[in-house]
Amino acid sequence: MKELEARIKEDGRVLGADILKVDSFLNHQIDPKLMQAMGAEFARLFKDQGITKVITVEASGIAPAVMAGLSLDIPVVFARKSKSRILSDDAYTADVYSYTKQSTNQIRIDKRFLSADDHVLLIDDFLANGQALLGMKALADDAGATIVGAGIVIEKSFQPGRQAAIEAGLTNIHSLAKIAAFENGQVVFEEAD
Ligand code: 5GP
Repeated sequence: MKELEARIKEDGRVLGADILKVDSFLNHQIDPKLMQAMGAEFARLFKDQGITKVITVEASGIAPAVMAGLSLDIPVVFARKSKSRILSDDAYTADVYSYTKQSTNQIRIDKRFLSADDHVLLIDDFLANGQALLGMKALADDAGATIVGAGIVIEKSFQPGRQAAIEAGLTNIHSLAKIAAFENGQVVFEEAD
C-alpha cells in the first residue's frame, strides 16, 4: 500500500537492528484517515470470503482492526493481554512471548465473543516472529472457529514470522507493507501482497 509505505519512509524510525518505531501514526498517536484507508484495503483483500469477525490483540492491533471491521461491516474482538496466569473457564487463553518486550503475556477472549460458527480474519500491526499471530490462531482453534486469513499492517520479511505462521497452517496472509531490510537506518521495502 503506497500511502503506508510513504508514511513509513517519512515518519518511521529504525531502532537498532530490527525495530521500526511508528508511534506517530500507528503505535501511540494514531492517524485515523490512514487507518481508515488501511481498513478499506483489508476489506478489499478479504471481501467475499464469508468473514464473520475480525480478531486482534490489544492495543496496537485495535485501530486497523476496527477500520477493517467497519469496512467489512462485521464485529471486531480484541484479545486482552494480562500478565496474570489466572485461568478462567469462560475464556480462551494462549501464551504469547514478545521478543520486543522480552516477556510473556497471556491473551484471552471471552467465550461469548468467539465460537465454532465464526469465520475469522486475524489482524495485527506487525508481523515479526509470528508469536502474536500464533497466539490468535490458538484462540480461534480452541473456539473451533475457521480462520479465513491474516491481515498485517507492517511485515518485517527478514524475520521468521510468516514462515512460522505458514508452518502452523495459516494461509492467506496479506501484509500492507513488507520490509525486506533496514539499511543504514533506512527502510527497504519489497513488493507488498
Ligand atoms: P511477533 O514477533 O509476535 O510477530 O510481533 C509481535 C508484536 O511485537 C507485534 O504485534 C508488535 O506489537 C510488536 N513488534 C514487533 N516488531 C515490531 C517493530 O519493529 N516495531 C514495533 N513498533 N512493534 C513491533
